[in-house]
This record gives sequence, C-alpha cells and structure tokens, in this order.
Amino acid sequence: RAKESGKNNYQFYVAEMTTLVSERLALENDLRSALERGEFSLNYQPIADCRSGAIVGMEALLRWKHPERGMISPALFIPLAEETGYIIPIGEWVLRTACEQCRGWQKAGFPSLYVAVNLSSRQFHQKDLTASIHRILQETGLDPTRLGLEITEGLIMQQAEASVNTLRELKAMGIRISIDDFGTGYSSLSYLKRFPIDVLKIDQSFVRDIPKDEDDAAIASTIITMAHSLGLKVVAEGVETLEQLNFMREHHCDTMQGYYLSKPLPPDQFTALLKNGTRLDVA
Ligand code: C2E
Ligand code: MG
Ligand code: MG
Ligand code: MG
Repeated sequence: RAKESGKNNYQFYVAEMTTLVSERLALENDLRSALERGEFSLNYQPIADCRSGAIVGMEALLRWKHPERGMISPALFIPLAEETGYIIPIGEWVLRTACEQCRGWQKAGFPSLYVAVNLSSRQFHQKDLTASIHRILQETGLDPTRLGLEITEGLIMQQAEASVNTLRELKAMGIRISIDDFGTGYSSLSYLKRFPIDVLKIDQSFVRDIPKDEDDAAIASTIITMAHSLGLKVVAEGVETLEQLNFMREHHCDTMQGYYLSKPLPPDQFTALLKNGTRLDVA
C-alpha cells in the first residue's frame, strides 16, 4: 500500500509540475507580445520630504494587465521577463514612459519633480545601457539630475568591476543612484564607499513593525545615521502609519514613501494629488 500511495504521490507531483511548467510557458508567451499589445502601464508612488511633507518625486512602478488574468504582480512577471530577456525592451519602454511623464508634470507646474525607475540585473548589465539612457533623456528633454535609478546591492555585486564603471558613467551624466531594499542583501558594507551611490532606501521589512519592534527601529535609525555620515540621502519605504512617519522624522530620515501618504497611482490620479497639494502634515 505504501508503494501504491507513493506512486500516486509521484503521479500527482508530475501532474502538478506539468501544470506549473505549462502555465509558466503560457505566461512567457503572453509576456512576449504584452508590450506591442499595450498591456503595460506605469503607476507612480509619491516620494515626500519627511519634514515639509512636500512631494519631491515619484517612483515608477510597472503594471501588466493580462487580457484574461487581469493584473499580474511585478513580483511574478519581472523575474520571467528577466530570464527571457524581454526585460530589455520592456525596461526601455518603462524608462522612456517615466521620463516623458515626469517631463510632462514638470511642464504642468512642478518643475523640480524627479522620477525613480527600477532597473533589473540584466538591464543594468546590458552593454549599451548608458547610451540608451542618454538617448531617452535627450528625446524626452528630461534633465538627467531629475532621473533616479533604483538598483539592488546584489545586482551590483554580481559584476563589481563592470558595475563601478557603469555607475560612474551614469553619475557623470548627473543621474542619481539609489540602493533599493537596502539591508536585505548579503553584501558587505564596504561597497558603499567603493560605488558612487547617492541614496539608500530602507527596505519596508524594517519599517513595517516600527515602533513596536525595537530591533527594526534600531536597524532603521542606524541605516539613517550611517547613510548621513557617508554623505548619502535616505528614503524610508513602506511607511504606513503616522507613528512610522514620526519615527522617521525624529531620526532625520530625508524622504519617505508608503501607503500612509499614497499607494502607487495611475498618472491622472497622480496629477490630481499634485494639484491638491497633499502634504503629509495635513494627512
Ligand atoms: P520596489 O522597487 O521595492 O517597490 C516597492 C514596492 O512596495 C511596490 O510594489 C509598492 O507598491 C510597494 N509599496 C509601496 N508602499 C507600500 C506600503 O506602504 N506598504 C506595502 N506593504 N507595500 C508598499 P510593486 O509595485 O508590487 O512592485 C514590486 C517590485 O517589483 C518592486 O519593488 C520592484 O523591485 C519590481 N518592479 C516594479 N516595477 C518595476 C520596473 O519597472 N522594472 C523592474 N526591473 N522592476 C520593477
Ligand atoms: Mg524600487
Ligand atoms: Mg524596495
Ligand atoms: Mg523590492
């Protein structure tokens, strides 16, 4: 009987795996045509100055509306796009769209706004990244100092030598570099002085349980102090409550983003937010 049930388990397992694999293949296939079918869009999450509450910029976040499945999380399809290489054209579309949109808002009366765009590993390590970004900035008319690129520590450690060079080129153009999800990687802190970085984004996992969790509070305040001693700015991610915002203010965190201020919004709603002049101290 044991043998029998073992066999059944095995068959079940194979069936499950087959479903997973074919689902994955189907999704991969749909991803290939998603760009030309216009299924992607960008949402924008405001980034605000902790002290004044003014919106200083926004992070562009990719959305995929699948014709049958509806919205698919970037956490699911970005890794697929990365493995298949589709991330290169998709990423270029994201950059161009975000730069255009930022320029549009600047012209509409918010001249100092900046936009932050996430870069995946394959995209960052592609040979003509800087040339491509240079072209996009020229075509959209966005000042390079108004573009931020978000990368993870793991990504730059993969090819440290090449990464330093790419980062230097980007920095020389005036672009600001942020380390996303800071504190969740396995890299040593020494890269912070080797790499030309401008901003650390405290990962939301350290913010979530503030003020209740004293360890997280200690980690977050230490990141802020360390960043400032290195001449870096800090963004707190995932700020959901007034207590968390107050914590960040008390510890002199520069800027914040999170549901407490706003979820990522489609462009028209972001425009409304800008025009209503939403400020944190009013919220
Ligand atoms: P990320 O860059 O760390 O972005 C922050 C994520 O946290 C976003 O999830 C955002 O919606 C979410 N978030 C913001 N505030 C809060 C909050 O207060 N509470 C909670 N619980 N969550 C909050 P999203 O939009 O699902 O994106 C997930 C990840 O997908 C991003 O993490 C980023 O790594 C990746 N991603 C998104 N768009 C792009 C893109 O255009 N290119 C690349 N390469 N990756 C992208
Ligand atoms: Mg990000
Ligand atoms: Mg993050
Ligand atoms: Mg993340």
